[in-house]
Amino acid sequence: MSSSVALRLPSIDGLLRHPACAPLLERHGRESLLASLRQLLDELRSSVLNGQLSAVEISPDVLAGRVGERLAHQQRSNVRRVFNLTGTVLHTNLGRALLPDEAIDAVQMAARYPLNLEFDLVSGKRGDRDDLIEGLIRELTGAEAVTVVNNNAAAVLLTLNSLGARKEGIISRGELIEIGGAFRIPDIMARAGVRLHEVGTTNRTHARDYEAAISPRSGLIMRVHASNYSIEGFTARVPTAELAELAHRHGLPLLEDLGSGSLLDLTRWGLPAEPTVRQALLDGADIVTFSGDKLLGGPQAGLIVGRKELIAKIKKNPLKRALRVDKLTLAALEAVLGLYRDPDRLAERLPSLRLLTRPQAEILAQACRLQPAMAEALGEPWQVSAVQALGMIGSGSQPVARLPSAALCLRPQVSKRMRGRCLLNLEAALRRLPIPVLGRIDDDALWLDLRQLDDEPAWLAQLPQLQVES
Ligand SMILES: *Cc1c(COP(=O)(O)O)cnc(C)c1O
Repeated sequence: MSSSVALRLPSIDGLLRHPACAPLLERHGRESLLASLRQLLDELRSSVLNGQLSAVEISPDVLAGRVGERLAHQQRSNVRRVFNLTGTVLHTNLGRALLPDEAIDAVQMAARYPLNLEFDLVSGKRGDRDDLIEGLIRELTGAEAVTVVNNNAAAVLLTLNSLGARKEGIISRGELIEIGGAFRIPDIMARAGVRLHEVGTTNRTHARDYEAAISPRSGLIMRVHASNYSIEGFTARVPTAELAELAHRHGLPLLEDLGSGSLLDLTRWGLPAEPTVRQALLDGADIVTFSGDKLLGGPQAGLIVGRKELIAKIKKNPLKRALRVDKLTLAALEAVLGLYRDPDRLAERLPSLRLLTRPQAEILAQACRLQPAMAEALGEPWQVSAVQALGMIGSGSQPVARLPSAALCLRPQVSKRMRGRCLLNLEAALRRLPIPVLGRIDDDALWLDLRQLDDEPAWLAQLPQLQVES
């Protein structure tokens, strides 16, 4: 027999006192619980009046459950760990380099206790935060002096502004690059107050092009690592040593923005050659700038190294204060740089180098090992195979070089018309996992490059929760 008696929502007070809400009250506090309960009841009110909900749906237990989910979701941090299976190791959108334990310990110490950030413990006088890492960087690069800022973009801006404001900066047309996130050399130059004087052509720039541009208005010559593109074919570029000689003959400094920059020759580990900071300085660059969280494998930072009097000028620029690094970064940077003193063990201890040098055979074996679990989680409509794949370093290091890697290749067994949607649904489902899994779609398949999967148990444990919409 159907009853026409309208259901009524429980009262807020009743719910607050109900045993089902007690654990929520304990965990989230009265204020949050009250706000969530109010919100939920408000949302349900009209449905209840229209008779669209059953008694069970508005029982205290069910309502407490729903509010509990909301509160848990609200409380979840926005900063979330993910699995980077994109194949790009130093992925700017995914936080670039992972820190070694030594750096994590140093960050913890710096976060927890007061420290000698700008205090000289020997003299008892005020110190300079750059002093904490100056010695190590000089030792590792051969530079006369060093200063550190927030990132490499800041390093370039600060250097240009300190050494070239109101003067002309001479640069090859082949190096007027844009890096992700709206970092464009011409714009940065303009903001630094340096007038851009471009020379040569996109593919070929000669020493005589630079020479012809030099005038009393010139302030500096700049060279920028092409980072995310490569020019091949009929090309010409002036070697750094020759460009430095030319600059010095005219009394101009040569700045070299190495982008990633490497402290050691990476070919030693079978990786593609990247210019080293030491070599750029040996070749005669007066200032070299590079990132802390690209190939260096450390925290986000911009390192400026080079001639003492130029560094002194850069440090006096009031912008330095605006762009300086914090104590956590310095602590991490010092610990990472310390590992470079023992290059023989660097590939074991520095996560980015360890990941970059993982042998393809090992990654392929891992893919074969994980294939059955992935196939089971996805079920019938998917073909899952363990295959060789090509990844990349990322962050503007070697844009065309590929790292031989291995992947799980997930291919939907549906009509061509449906494939695109299927793949997007799978991609979304992987992102909804407790630790979101990020791969890449290519050639009608979703690829999970396993080079960076080192927490296999955590990855496997959440697979049964994968739910792909169809
Ligand atoms: C990456 C890069 C930058 C910017 O470095 P950030 O550390 O990301 O600020 C600047 N110049 C070059 C050549 C780069 O490759």
